[in-house]
Amino acid sequence: MHTEKLIEHDFERRRGRLRRQLKQHGLDAMLITNVVNVTYLTGFTGDSSYLVLDRDGECLLSDSRYDVQIADECPDLDVVSRRAPTPMSHILNKAVRARKVNALGVETDTLTVATYDDISVALTGVELVSTSDLVANLRQIKDRSEVQAIRASIRLAEKAFAVIRASLRPDQTEREIAFALEHQIRLLGGDGCSFEPIVAAGHRAALPHAHPQDRVIGDDDLLLIDWGALRQGYMSDLTRVLVTGRISPKLERIYGVVLNAQRRAIESIRPGISTGEVDFAARAVIQDAGFGPKFGHGLGHGFGLEIHENPRMAPNQPQVLKVGMVITVEPGIYIPKWGGVRIEDDVLVTKDGHEVLSNVAKELDECLV
Ligand code: ZN
Ligand code: ZN
Repeated sequence: MHTEKLIEHDFERRRGRLRRQLKQHGLDAMLITNVVNVTYLTGFTGDSSYLVLDRDGECLLSDSRYDVQIADECPDLDVVSRRAPTPMSHILNKAVRARKVNALGVETDTLTVATYDDISVALTGVELVSTSDLVANLRQIKDRSEVQAIRASIRLAEKAFAVIRASLRPDQTEREIAFALEHQIRLLGGDGCSFEPIVAAGHRAALPHAHPQDRVIGDDDLLLIDWGALRQGYMSDLTRVLVTGRISPKLERIYGVVLNAQRRAIESIRPGISTGEVDFAARAVIQDAGFGPKFGHGLGHGFGLEIHENPRMAPNQPQVLKVGMVITVEPGIYIPKWGGVRIEDDVLVTKDGHEVLSNVAKELDECLV
């Protein structure tokens, strides 16, 4: 992960939450190979390193390139640092045998077949138990320091957007605007964009995942921008449509439906509601307006250290929202050859319901540039 040091997070508490899961899943220990999960549990932001966590403690398996960084980022952690040509499998084997592990959980969702094969050869006799989303499910409930970091990332994204918006010119290309956004985010102290921004003018806004091109905004009527910032490891994710031409009756109609759908969905957010129900709150508005088939993606997703995390909000999802989840709400209507409207905000699930964390004007007349 290319980010500055993660500060003031309670990594010990997070490891404690995972430790409690071991017993429930009949595991003696867990092998964390997913690099983002290692960061989440330790604060170490390098890669090529594993974490072995058992019921009594844990150990980071890394290599000598990272000695200084580890001393800086997670000084209190037990570390085994290998030196070339000692392979990772060698120190992994030693660490697991020393802990007398019979059943070792592995992260099946993200482990490559090659790594799995290496691990099973190194750990002959140890039972490798497939686990799914163990750390991902912990990560979907953000702790206080994470919510703080996400808020800061959102503020940064909003400031950068305000600068871009104020300096928008018809001769700018989609790609220039995307680059300018990233430039602003970095000038304001961020580590870059949380993903390649989507900057789509006119009919290209009909593509939910348009890549910015060398195409001038010119006299297109609308410009869709989907962007976010990366700051201290955490991300943000927002979408606005700017009106660069006139407000046509068709745009007014479609924009109104999407905004209404988004408001209904946000209003429904509270602990205990299923993500499918929140999705439906928005989808019903779009369907009733006759645009059902034009809203082809899920309503939103969790985010944090990565841009797409659990929970996923899509039709019929049974997963239930809990206090501390941070999700996007991003309904859209996409009309081929005309364009598209998506409005995306970031929402925290709170004890009393929800708090909208992002704050960028979104009434249609406020989007005129
Ligand atoms: Zn987005
Ligand atoms: Zn999103």
